[in-house]
Amino acid sequence: MALFPDVLTDRYRRFKHRIFVPNADQYEELATYGQNPEIMLISCCDSRVDPETIFNAMPGELFVARNVANLVPPYETGGKFHGVSAGIEFAVLNLRVKHIVIMGHSGCGGVKAALNQSTAIETEAHFISRWMSMLDDARLSVLAAHQMKSEAEKLEALEKEGIKTSIKNLRTFPFVREREDKGRLNLHGAHFDIKTGTLSVLSHSRGEFFPL
Ligand SMILES: [Zn+2]
Repeated sequence: MALFPDVLTDRYRRFKHRIFVPNADQYEELATYGQNPEIMLISCCDSRVDPETIFNAMPGELFVARNVANLVPPYETGGKFHGVSAGIEFAVLNLRVKHIVIMGHSGCGGVKAALNQSTAIETEAHFISRWMSMLDDARLSVLAAHQMKSEAEKLEALEKEGIKTSIKNLRTFPFVREREDKGRLNLHGAHFDIKTGTLSVLSHSRGEFFPL
């Protein structure tokens, strides 16, 4: 059996001494009474955009689901395994979160694969190309609206359009729609720029992202 990576052993020990021990009371409380986060965050698997780091979160504060390109599929009960949908269901029905934030980011490899569909085909990335087909409609509208723009601008436009698509798909979940209509659940979009550290937030009324 392969050895557990040294880097993880070292980092874990550092966490135990520097984070866990000084916050042992909080961990004990969380262990005893369970979690009660008010925010669900759906973000990309990308190692550069860790939500707990960006929002300086402590354990118990954020309920996080991560997947390639921070996508929410449309509500459907067929098929077999629905990891994202199970997370949303648990967050909304059991934890009763007040907010769901879809957080995209700059330079997203998944969105890039969607933008340039040939990349996925060339690398035989079947899972990714199938997963990213959720952005087919968004891709067409971005390509139509940004014909003269650079690849980087098209990529950013599709990253942001993808966030809007996920919010639209969230509203196809009956229990999400119902709680949003009653004002008990708020849906948000955000885009993190890795190079500048800027977080831009979606204005629903204007359909655009504005930096915080
Ligand atoms: Zn990404």
